[in-house]
Amino acid sequence: MKADAIVIGAGIAGCSAALHLSEAGIETLLLEMGEVSGEASGVNMGGLGGTGWGTSPGLQEYLTMGSLNIFKRLQMELGFDLEFRQSGSFTAIHNEDQYLYAKNRVLESQKNGFNLQLLSSYEAKAIEPELNIDLLGYVYSPTRGQADPLKTTRAFGQAASQAGTNIQTNTMVTGLRSNQGIWEVETNRGVYQGQSVVIAAGAWSKNIGEMVGANIPIEPVVGQMWSTDPLPPRVFSTISSFESSFHWSENLYVDDKSPPELTHFGEERVTRHLYGRQRKSGEIIFGGDRRNAGFNKALDASGLEVNKGHATEVLPLLSGLPISTTWSGLMPFSKDGKPVIGRIPENDNLYVVTGLCSSGFGRGPGAGMLVADLVIRSESHPVLAESDPARFDS
Ligand SMILES: Cc1cc2nc3c(=O)[nH]c(=O)nc-3n(C[C@H](O)[C@H](O)[C@H](O)COP(=O)(O)OP(=O)(O)OC[C@H]3O[C@@H](n4cnc5c(N)ncnc54)[C@H](O)[C@@H]3O)c2cc1C
Repeated sequence: MKADAIVIGAGIAGCSAALHLSEAGIETLLLEMGEVSGEASGVNMGGLGGTGWGTSPGLQEYLTMGSLNIFKRLQMELGFDLEFRQSGSFTAIHNEDQYLYAKNRVLESQKNGFNLQLLSSYEAKAIEPELNIDLLGYVYSPTRGQADPLKTTRAFGQAASQAGTNIQTNTMVTGLRSNQGIWEVETNRGVYQGQSVVIAAGAWSKNIGEMVGANIPIEPVVGQMWSTDPLPPRVFSTISSFESSFHWSENLYVDDKSPPELTHFGEERVTRHLYGRQRKSGEIIFGGDRRNAGFNKALDASGLEVNKGHATEVLPLLSGLPISTTWSGLMPFSKDGKPVIGRIPENDNLYVVTGLCSSGFGRGPGAGMLVADLVIRSESHPVLAESDPARFDS
């Protein structure tokens, strides 16, 4: 019931933190209320970001490109099958306003050393044959990738276990207190003691923070997805649309009390968001809605139809394919939309890694590694200045 470090939550962030702590020789315990990969990390779309390190790498590059390196290491050095591929990604442009916005973003990114290209529909279709040739164009990101979320997060758990992490599933943290410099973590299966605690509880991180009076302003945002039946390989990259990023570039905050970049204002839809790919097992999967509905994961059928219509505009082959499966999950959105990684103020040896919002599958491995590095060295990597939890207390 004792360890040097206790990590709460076995999603991708917690499993990666545990893996890197154990590899550094820290005796690590990973506590999970359900199963490894049972929440967002196991049900997401599987898209991985990363458009290069750029000329002046910051937190985003450490999280995206750093994570890509860790995905590669797990699959190619440690031998886990993640279904990882650096497949590239296409983002569809639907109208003139979006085209201008996309063009400026691509030019700015290229100037800063990132690998993004603006392609005509003709050029894009030559690489990804099912794309709609009637759209205005596509932004191509050759370095982005994809992986199977369930296989991947379980592999991170297994790699952590092989490196020495003691993983306790069906163990729900119900209390947290410091007793003479030792953390006592109360659970439904007894009390565990640790020198350090890392909160990696995704959408539930705020609740754990409240146990010690700490402010971790994370809101659960429900995302939903659908899939077709399996079909032979037809779509090779990940696919998205510029509609939502263009909308959010002009309307950053949907609501003062709500996290940024959601698709809904209360019940009302304000934009359409889109991401998808074809799994190795053949199903084409898409999703996009981001609703602030508390911990209620109930699906919104009208949102699925809107999303299917949007996806069909980009990949016309979807028009003849019915939705066969649907599911949803809770994304950990911070109030400012930025990651929350670092030391919790006024609590010695208490750390957090969360706020990875809608792109935490692709950024979780790097985030876990950075928080593990902080625990091990007692010193933050400079890029973590951007994600310091103390920003919410000032
Ligand atoms: C539909 C959907 C599509 C998405 N698509 C993508 C995508 O394509 N690419 C991408 O990069 N990201 C995507 N995301 C976002 C991504 O899944 C999340 O950002 C990421 O998985 C968050 O990881 P996490 O480890 O922080 O949280 P989680 O995976 O939620 O893990 C947190 C864990 O903590 C556990 N926990 C909570 N409270 C307690 C407690 N009291 N005691 C013990 N354990 C506890 C939970 O059970 C859970 O297992 C998507 C998300 C959704 C829902």
